[in-house]
Amino acid sequence: MIIDAHVHISLFEGNARTLEEALHVLKNDMQKHSVKKAIIVPDNIENSDHIADLTKAIELAGDQENFYFLGSPQIIQRGLGEVERYQKLLEEKRIVGLKFFPGHDPYFPTDDRCLPYYALCQKLHVPVLFHTGENSGDSACATWNDPKYIVEIAKKFPKLKVIITHYFWPKMQYCYDITKDISNIYFETAAMADGEVLEKSGGMEVVQEIVKKTIKDRPEQVIFGTDWPMCKIDDHIHLIESLHLSADVESKIFYENALTIYDL
Ligand SMILES: [Zn+2]
Repeated sequence: MIIDAHVHISLFEGNARTLEEALHVLKNDMQKHSVKKAIIVPDNIENSDHIADLTKAIELAGDQENFYFLGSPQIIQRGLGEVERYQKLLEEKRIVGLKFFPGHDPYFPTDDRCLPYYALCQKLHVPVLFHTGENSGDSACATWNDPKYIVEIAKKFPKLKVIITHYFWPKMQYCYDITKDISNIYFETAAMADGEVLEKSGGMEVVQEIVKKTIKDRPEQVIFGTDWPMCKIDDHIHLIESLHLSADVESKIFYENALTIYDL
């Protein structure tokens, strides 16, 4: 069994004409690759016909038991104004964590407006997820989400589960080094097997090495994710399988860790 902890409902390269259809394509792809559950990461852009925000994602898949959702506070537009809304959604288990994308929007992880959300997640024992690294075609994005800021947050909230996705590509080794001694940092693998990410990050062997040593350091703190539909599920499955982990550790990465960390 596999859990994909990072998918979007979005239109990408003609995969679908509508978001309803995109969800249908996702379900087919999940079935094809034995992915039993998925966490839908909503986009920061609201009311788009091309990518689902939280409201749209819940409308499309909220009644289906194999889908889970993250919240996505709008730090720039609403600042602290959504803390109560997200508290309610988390307490009712409508969402299983909060996602932040500094760089998509111009704020740093250490921004004062983010802190109450982190405190809330720490209190409720749910994770926060940080998109890190470049965005396709936008390398300046990475200046906002440097893991040095995420380390500060992890230290300030020592019981908070702080998940880094995309491994701050293309500077994965830097991200490994700076986070190595911080015990409440977790990793999720979305986009790490993508062609552009692999090429810019030094190639497949470099990425395999990074993932392998991260899993060795934190076998209970690495989660499988893909960034579907921008990235392919099978490429990510192959990346994990290519590491030749023990069956025990491989099942932690593919699903057990997600179950525990997100309390699914
Ligand atoms: Zn994503």
